[in-house]
Amino acid sequence: PNTLMWFRRDLRLTDNPALLAAVSAAGTDGVQALFVLDPVPFRASGRARTSHLARSLRALDRSLDGRLLVRHGDPVDEVLRAAAAIDAEEVHVAADYGPYGRRRDQRVEEALAGHGITLHRAGSPYAVAPGRIRKPDGSPYRVFTPYSKAWRAHGWRAPVAAPRGVTWLPAQGSDGLPAVPELPDVDLPDAGEDAARKQLTAFLDGPIRDYATDRDRPDRDGTSRLSVHLKYGELHPRTILAELSGHRGTGADTFRTELCWREFYADVLFHRPESLWESLDQRVGRIHIDSGRTADERFAAWASGRTGYPVVDAGMRQLLNVGWMHNRVRMITASFLVKDLHLPWQRGAAHFLDLLVDGDYASNNHNWQWVAGTGTDAAPYVRVFNPVTQGKKFDPDGVYVRTWVPELSGVESPGVHEPWTLPEQPDGYPEPIVDHAAERKETLARFARV
Ligand code: FAD
Repeated sequence: PNTLMWFRRDLRLTDNPALLAAVSAAGTDGVQALFVLDPVPFRASGRARTSHLARSLRALDRSLDGRLLVRHGDPVDEVLRAAAAIDAEEVHVAADYGPYGRRRDQRVEEALAGHGITLHRAGSPYAVAPGRIRKPDGSPYRVFTPYSKAWRAHGWRAPVAAPRGVTWLPAQGSDGLPAVPELPDVDLPDAGEDAARKQLTAFLDGPIRDYATDRDRPDRDGTSRLSVHLKYGELHPRTILAELSGHRGTGADTFRTELCWREFYADVLFHRPESLWESLDQRVGRIHIDSGRTADERFAAWASGRTGYPVVDAGMRQLLNVGWMHNRVRMITASFLVKDLHLPWQRGAAHFLDLLVDGDYASNNHNWQWVAGTGTDAAPYVRVFNPVTQGKKFDPDGVYVRTWVPELSGVESPGVHEPWTLPEQPDGYPEPIVDHAAERKETLARFARV
């Protein structure tokens, strides 16, 4: 019988267990490849992610000989319609563990069941599915390090190859691929399975060796830039983990740990879906936050990269220019919003999600909670990042700042990280909007009150 493969966050043919299951159930019959453009998540995506998704779907469509059926609408109606049109008895998906995806899949499953069609789940966007790793007493882990030990001990399956000789059914009645939005001022990475693979090879051929130290240096190309490909499932983490096993040394090991953070935060979200926008530590979450006109002006200065603190501004402008920001600088800019400007982490998280090409609810919002000190993990909430010392330590020559803040392009280090100490303030660059030392004290006083 014909089967339906419903692609979501797994826009690839290689190492896709759901696709293999759909192909194997079809036997000598055909497989319909479907993508549903669900307006709910699509509207919340931001232009960089909308662009990536549109380009990734084009790449997937090409690898299916132009036979990707695209439907625009509520998946409850569209999946049923597509399955009924080919007389399918089975619909295959990779399990979605996010709060919205779980509710949606349950609704789709019920609608299909009403017509005698079954929804089959195989695999997920993670090496180890959320909810699987638990403490011996069955409760979820709240702290990363013990989770990561259990995650390594649990292990993961070997990758599976792409199916061959598949009869893809024609995309009859397709609403067409979504338009790629014009973003002339934003330089975005290539999309699709081949681009993801190329990026992985380039990383494993070089930067992986020094990853343990270079991953903290925004002035170097020391990280994998795989986050966007993982976000859309153009590459599965299992594939990466399998390739890493051939690499010895601290670089590969540190990289494995970073992949584990992604899995840990998905696990946290699975157990506590309210943690998307609610502080996990309600006590710390009750800290006083500023509002009103000054708060809004400060937020605008932060968002446009005009706080007067060079490494903060460089990060925010990198985000505006390429839809991505280096991890170290994500921490510095997030800390600045919460602890120097006293604004709610949720406001910063929403802004990041709007602009990040790799914007992912679990990773983004839980990292924001980590920085704010409201998270599940044992991060000391009293830690306040100092933008000057962080800049000097991780961008010692000022290369990163000069790349993204042209007003400082002629300034050498260390003055580039504290331009107010220069004999003359650089042309067009703002004075600091707040005094870091004073705001740090203020934050600690507010913490003491809660
Ligand atoms: P690499 O250093 O090459 O890391 C490899 C992979 O490991 C990443 O692609 C990612 O999948 C995972 N990873 C690394 N660090 C983390 C981390 N701290 N938490 C979770 N996963 C991690 N990552 C996102 O994918 N989407 C987001 O929306 C996101 N928002 C963030 C917001 C803040 C405030 C902070 C501090 C971090 C955020 N991160 C987010 C985590 C991290 O910054 C990015 O994953 C990383 O910068 C992506 O670049 P890379 O692929 O070159 O990373």
